[in-house]
Amino acid sequence: MDKFYCEYCGRDFRNVRQLTLAKCDRHPDGPNRGNHSPAL
Ligand SMILES: [Zn+2]
Repeated sequence: MDKFYCEYCGRDFRNVRQLTLAKCDRHPDGPNRGNHSPAL
């Protein structure tokens, strides 16, 4: 099964939608200032 990783924090998600809807605590704009970004 594929996994999708955030390029900022490395957290893995089961799908891109979940990833992009969740706040990232290592976002470049600041903790939880933005959502995870898929690393492709
Ligand atoms: Zn993240």
